[in-house]
Amino acid sequence: MLKVSGVHTYYGAIEALKGVDVDINEGEIVTLIGANGAGKSTLLMTICGTPQARQGRITFEGEEITKLPTYEIVRRGIAQSPEGRRIFPRMSVLENLQMGSITAQPGSFERELERVFHLFPRLKERMHQRAGTMSGGEQQMLAIGRALMSQPRLLLLDEPSLGLAPLVVKQIFQVIKEINREQKMTVFMVEQNAFHALKLAHRGYVMVTGRITMSGTGAQLLADPEVRAAYLEGGH
Ligand code: ATP
Repeated sequence: MLKVSGVHTYYGAIEALKGVDVDINEGEIVTLIGANGAGKSTLLMTICGTPQARQGRITFEGEEITKLPTYEIVRRGIAQSPEGRRIFPRMSVLENLQMGSITAQPGSFERELERVFHLFPRLKERMHQRAGTMSGGEQQMLAIGRALMSQPRLLLLDEPSLGLAPLVVKQIFQVIKEINREQKMTVFMVEQNAFHALKLAHRGYVMVTGRITMSGTGAQLLADPEVRAAYLEGGH
């Protein structure tokens, strides 16, 4: 479904991605783990076209998207829930969801809204609340809900569990599983919480300073001594 081949991305003179290859198959949950600053967020952002890859190629459903503007990439069926949530704090929950549906097919709004409210009943209860006054977990739900409103076929999630209490983390991962199973949504997720994320994922990748160093099924990576030592020991 998504093919990232030999992608290099720069911030000025800094090379953040140094030739990255990643494949995502339709229907999968794929997790990308790696230390702070490895380039994980940069990869998700490069897939969305901001910043653009300076070298390499990204194809989505067989068509090249490497040099397309972000709005066009979203229109083709990729949506991102960015790190730090980035909801619109002064807008209501409902208005945030409306913003997410801008690129969706006309007439789909009510149906998608019902779906999002079904996944996150809390958002329905708080529909008219200013988004910036919601709790961290609620804002994360809103960020994911807003991404879903554009009716993506590929959902990119940047650290959905960041800063959330264990019980809320569990709920968020449960919903990701549900979206994948029931809506057949393909998910590519960046996570610091390697244990939970790899348990949930069909496959995973490990990134170290701008390069993919390892890949395998979630179970293989969880069992790998190097992965355990670098990303799992201590926490679990
Ligand atoms: P984290 O887990 O801490 O979010 P990450 O793996 O997502 O890290 P990135 O945010 O992609 O890593 O950063 C990769 C590298 O690119 C880092 O060295 C970072 O300092 C640099 N970088 C990221 N954004 C910018 C920017 N806007 N300008 C300059 N350098 C940047």
